[in-house]
Amino acid sequence: MSNTQITRPLFDQLMVPNYAPLNMIPVRGEGSRVWDQQDNEYLDLTGGIAVNALGHAHPELVKTLIEQAQKLWHVSNIYTNEPALQLAQKLVDNTFAEKVFFANSGAEANEAALKLARRYAQDNFNKDKTEIIAFHQGFHGRTFFTVTAGGQKSYSDGFGPKPADITHLEYNDLSALEAAISDKTCAVILEPLQGEGGVLPICHQFAIAVRVLCNKHNALMIFDEVQTGMGRTGSLFAYMGLDVTPDIVTSAKALGGGFPISVMLTTTKLAACLTVGTHGTTFGGNPLACAVASKVFDLINTPEMLAGVKQKEKLFRELLDEINSEFSIFKEVRGAGLLLGVVLNEQYQDRAKDFFLASVEQGLLVLVAGANVIRFAPALNISDDEIKQAMAKFKNAIEVVVKG
Ligand SMILES: *Cc1c(COP(=O)(O)O)cnc(C)c1O
Repeated sequence: MSNTQITRPLFDQLMVPNYAPLNMIPVRGEGSRVWDQQDNEYLDLTGGIAVNALGHAHPELVKTLIEQAQKLWHVSNIYTNEPALQLAQKLVDNTFAEKVFFANSGAEANEAALKLARRYAQDNFNKDKTEIIAFHQGFHGRTFFTVTAGGQKSYSDGFGPKPADITHLEYNDLSALEAAISDKTCAVILEPLQGEGGVLPICHQFAIAVRVLCNKHNALMIFDEVQTGMGRTGSLFAYMGLDVTPDIVTSAKALGGGFPISVMLTTTKLAACLTVGTHGTTFGGNPLACAVASKVFDLINTPEMLAGVKQKEKLFRELLDEINSEFSIFKEVRGAGLLLGVVLNEQYQDRAKDFFLASVEQGLLVLVAGANVIRFAPALNISDDEIKQAMAKFKNAIEVVVKG
């Protein structure tokens, strides 16, 4: 085995075929740059799907990781540990939360949130209060409960009986929510900006109305900030820019800067229903992940970093507008902070993938969000110079696609 050539065909030979990775295999990264096996260089506007918020191999994160690795990696929740409590303190000090629960992925944080909502309703109201309201095109992860809450039916079809009593409504449709919500609703779960669903921002009035309606019906408002949390939109969490305080906020992707960790944030009152033994995870809150996330938190939660996100958004939008005035390929740039979506116009319907592949050829890594949206989720510390270089490459990629 030591002589095995590591190539893309080996993936098809060895791996469960649920992914379709690119042909190039990244081997090394530094900041917003990545190199493949042939030492080709790429500018990375994907950030590992909004995960590597401080870029690749950030020196301070590497240092923290090594220091903690030499001390203590994992102890299980039979014990608590110092890095977990340090990180929890930072989250509590800087958000609405009074209590936190750590897990390892976005799906697990949302799973905890949905279970908490059901449990809270069972304990405090009645057995019929089980309905969860979620939204079309929403994405909450791939465990069976969370994927069923997600708004893409095809993702949860074909696995047998689904977790029951989840209602899907149109995102941002206030009258649909008013009509559907009732005293049987235990929670409304939504993203403050739909990421996977097409980089679709929430209407400010809708966010406020969700809060009001949840209060009226004793339902919990769950904000899934797995993608928008930790500075992505220019606020530490997106709810902070929307004048609402949810009952539960989940976060993951950028939280560990590339080390897997997630969190559910909530209040003391709600947390009280998850008594000893009601929920748990072996790896959640391990010292290695928490030490790294704690350092990530310090580096992101500064006025300079958060203001930088808004400035860089402006630069992206300016450069994209310039490109569009030349090629007229998109009708809109939407999103917030450094989670931006380029929405293709009628002429280029369903061709986001073509622009994505042409970008790779130019040494630029971008994302798609559905068939019509090209998505950028770069590191929050990407430099202005790198943004300019990236947009020059993007322009070349567009030219190739447009000229056929
Ligand atoms: C990525 C994502 C998830 C799922 O996170 P995993 O770590 O893949 O489980 C959930 N919600 C949102 C909004 C996401 O963007």
